[in-house]
Amino acid sequence: MKNGKNILVGVAWPYANGPLHLGHVAGSLLPPDIFARYHRMKGNAVLMVSGSDEHGTPITLKAENEGVTPQELVDRFHKEHVDSLSRLGISFDLFWRTSAQNHKKRVQDVFSRIYENGYVVEKEMIANYCPTCKRFLPDRYVEGTCPSCGYEGARGDQCESCGLILDLDELIDPRCKICGTRPVKRETKHLFLKLSALKPSLEKYAKSKKEVWRKNVYSFTINWLKDLRDRPITRDIDWGVEVPLEGYEKKRIYVWFEAVLGYYTTSIEYSERVGKKSLWKDFWMGKSRSFYFVGKDNIPFHAIILPAILLAHKGLNLPYDVPANEYLLFKGEQFSKSRNIGVWLKDFLERYDPDAIRYYLTINAPETKDVDFSLEDFYTRNDEELVSTYGNFIYRSLSFAYKNWGEVPKGEDELEKIVDQSWEKVGALIQERKFSSALRETMALAKEGNKYLNEKEPWKSIKNGRKDAEKAIHNSLRLARSLAIIMQPFLPFSSQRIWEMLGYEGSIEEVGWDEALKDIESGISLKKPEMLFRKIGR
Ligand SMILES: [Zn+2]
Ligand SMILES: [Zn+2]
Repeated sequence: MKNGKNILVGVAWPYANGPLHLGHVAGSLLPPDIFARYHRMKGNAVLMVSGSDEHGTPITLKAENEGVTPQELVDRFHKEHVDSLSRLGISFDLFWRTSAQNHKKRVQDVFSRIYENGYVVEKEMIANYCPTCKRFLPDRYVEGTCPSCGYEGARGDQCESCGLILDLDELIDPRCKICGTRPVKRETKHLFLKLSALKPSLEKYAKSKKEVWRKNVYSFTINWLKDLRDRPITRDIDWGVEVPLEGYEKKRIYVWFEAVLGYYTTSIEYSERVGKKSLWKDFWMGKSRSFYFVGKDNIPFHAIILPAILLAHKGLNLPYDVPANEYLLFKGEQFSKSRNIGVWLKDFLERYDPDAIRYYLTINAPETKDVDFSLEDFYTRNDEELVSTYGNFIYRSLSFAYKNWGEVPKGEDELEKIVDQSWEKVGALIQERKFSSALRETMALAKEGNKYLNEKEPWKSIKNGRKDAEKAIHNSLRLARSLAIIMQPFLPFSSQRIWEMLGYEGSIEEVGWDEALKDIESGISLKKPEMLFRKIGR
């Protein structure tokens, strides 16, 4: 174990019913990656986990539509997720899946323990039953109008438009999603998580987070807790985790219960894979802190449901923070797999540098409010900021140095103060989960580089003896080196390219965050520089 802190980074599990879109990237995939990369550079022990969320009715509905089995469907999208996420440079320790046997087994263990602890209760309930299809209809097999915002395609469990979590009977004009019939009510038995019994502990927990959580997360949670009711853990479906209890052979554990346990099961799976069976305990017990990065629709599941399950289980750490982003909107509408709205990540990765995507979706991140995605804006920011400011500074410095010296020329450090100040601010902002501001601050440092070069004009001074030009270029390369390190959490691919052009070997991910404060060593041989980024606008 390293001498730092232990940090568990949980990343909202993308659902395996369609490809990833840019809303996922901006909402919940990039922020944790920046956070994890930074903390690894700081020497902290980081475990970053996620996976494909593969059960539930949207999967079975889609599989039925396509005439394939649910397993075939999730295999396809899990493979796509893994591929896109790796091309985007999201640095998971393990990106797993909920259809894995070990996940199911661990979920059953948690369920059994909570059952023994007295937090599961059997109740008769009235469920929706479709007389035409002759089956019980799980939440998502029912569609209707949201009682709060009036959205007509609201699902039985949640309104996608306003985020409201719904109970079965709250939808206006409900209809069966398969055949359109109005469902009737029938009695059936289910197991419930006794959230009512956990309410006082959950309220105490949430209130202790007033200064830690973002305002939206805090107020949403406090509001939701006011009306906390027992919630069914089982459902009438055959695709999912089996219930380890007699009489429940035909029912399965609900996604809301088992998918949030993925963080826990994946931590255990990871520990087994690296041959350190108890490693996960370093991240789930004791002084470790856990951060769950999610989109705002996922707040209740991470700020209430997951803590409730962990409280009922006993002995495991509750989430320290749930930094939830607002939405990235596409022409004013929410990106949506199920409604087929959005810009697909894999298409973007075919066309653009992953760092250009990372740059835009971080600088323009929906951290405190919904943000509109626009292709025009993406081009402009890429060309005018990434290419013209950052890329240009690096290329000017490196190509001038390469042409005239072929190595890092001698000189004293003139930029120490500027770099120190930025480095400090960027680190603090990342720790506070303010990634957009952190990246702006880093870009301001790149601007300082251009300003410095323009003031020193080494292309002029080199004509009157080399001394002044040497000094200026030494400092420019010093700044390029620092920028490569400070940019690594945000733009890992280009940071690695700068690192290599500066003549270093190995991965920049292995370089410590504090290394950015150091002056560059003179005399290192430079590699032939290439442009860092390409313009993509007209
Ligand atoms: Zn609504
Ligand atoms: Zn029906």
